[in-house]
Amino acid sequence: MRITVVGTGYVGLVTGSCLAEFGLLVTCVDIDENKINLLKNGKIPIYEPGLNNIVQKNVKEGRLNFTTDLQNSIKKSLVIFIAVGTPSGNDGSADLQYVEDVAKTIGKNLNGYKVIVNKSTVPIGTGKKIRDIIYSIVGNKYRFDVVSNPEFLREGSAINDFLRPDRIVIGAEHDEPIAIMRDIYSAHYLIEAPFVITNVETAEMIKYASNAFLALKISYINEIANLCDCVGADVHKVAKAMGMDGRISSKFLHPGPGFGGSCFPKDTRALSYMAKEAGSKLSIVDKLIEVNESQKHLMLDKIMKLLDIDTKKTEPLKSYNIGVLGLSFKPNTDDIRESPAITIINDLLKNGACVRVFDPIANENTKQQLGNVVEYMENEYQAAEGSHCLIISTEWNQFRKLDFSKLKQLMKDPYIADLRNIYDPIVLKRMGFEYTCVGRSSI
Ligand code: NAD
Repeated sequence: MRITVVGTGYVGLVTGSCLAEFGLLVTCVDIDENKINLLKNGKIPIYEPGLNNIVQKNVKEGRLNFTTDLQNSIKKSLVIFIAVGTPSGNDGSADLQYVEDVAKTIGKNLNGYKVIVNKSTVPIGTGKKIRDIIYSIVGNKYRFDVVSNPEFLREGSAINDFLRPDRIVIGAEHDEPIAIMRDIYSAHYLIEAPFVITNVETAEMIKYASNAFLALKISYINEIANLCDCVGADVHKVAKAMGMDGRISSKFLHPGPGFGGSCFPKDTRALSYMAKEAGSKLSIVDKLIEVNESQKHLMLDKIMKLLDIDTKKTEPLKSYNIGVLGLSFKPNTDDIRESPAITIINDLLKNGACVRVFDPIANENTKQQLGNVVEYMENEYQAAEGSHCLIISTEWNQFRKLDFSKLKQLMKDPYIADLRNIYDPIVLKRMGFEYTCVGRSSI
């Protein structure tokens, strides 16, 4: 079976290479010529652990190739996956221009029965919109089906998530595309991954409902953590005990500087927008968006409090050097979209601080977004050198075992703001550091 995957970003490239790994013949298409040229030259345009090996193996074995020629690829394929971006519009709605462009190109190049599978996260009703766009071009000349197959992979563990998913959701209107989808995912059948077969609208809704719920868990534990700081409780113990309750589960109960990334922020905004458009109320989602935004900015207050700074002064952080460790929105990715680290850096800069940053992978992406308003360092110790405070904003593994005696010598003052709670407050304080974290600061 020949498959086209449109969009070679985090989702498209993982989907394409993993489907090739299952033995299918896959062409990955992108409009970005640079990306395709890199891929053709054996280079991976994004950082995702394990992706390089799987791409190289499948290219070598002749099952995976790359092109910018979408028209030709559509004609040769039975199944076309859409995995293009659906960023936030100004009003919070999902911007569907890329999805609609692809649907038009599919309509213009249909030459027989095809299954169009939407993997992008799209508002409920988009499957029908894609169908209407294609139908308006081909009419009854060729049969086609539109399927919703939302993706749940997490950046940083995307290959494993795709190969061993918790569930596979397929939304379709007929038996024929469902049978084709089951065939594509037959390898998952063998590992007994559960399938949820439903209609297109329900499948589209499942993705938003899942993401918003996870975002809600994070915002909930962040607010609990803030309260723990006020009342002398330890949020780690609270989260641990909560997580032991099977009804709650321990996942996504890690307090920190708020969630970021390319999914939760935009998907919660899109869900809230959708609810308003539908005349329904999702006040809990509206609130979690607000809580998350405020959590990111609360980190500045925390840092100021740690440094005992008079916040009423203009540019209160002027003459302060601050080191920031971690820029990506989470470890093991180079993705900095809506990363809390970027908000924190901007807040520090607005208050006059000089900022030195280091990320094992995401320095380059950050440079493209922020330019030279901060200094980019080559390692954690360079970022700490001469600083009045060191902030841990992303919990990369290499930050978990820092050499604190070396840090103490390098830093101007021994202040640590551990916004991912990777260290024990008691141990750090015993080593002579002034230390703050999220929800354990007062223990
Ligand atoms: P991305 O921005 O990394 O990649 C999108 C790619 O699509 C880009 O390379 C872009 O050049 C390409 N593109 C845009 N228009 C095109 C066109 N007309 N023809 C060919 N290529 C085109 O996006 P992503 O992070 O992979 O996300 C894709 C979708 O999957 C989004 O809807 C997102 O919400 C959803 N999703 C993302 C994740 C994640 O962790 N990143 C997880 C689950 C779902």
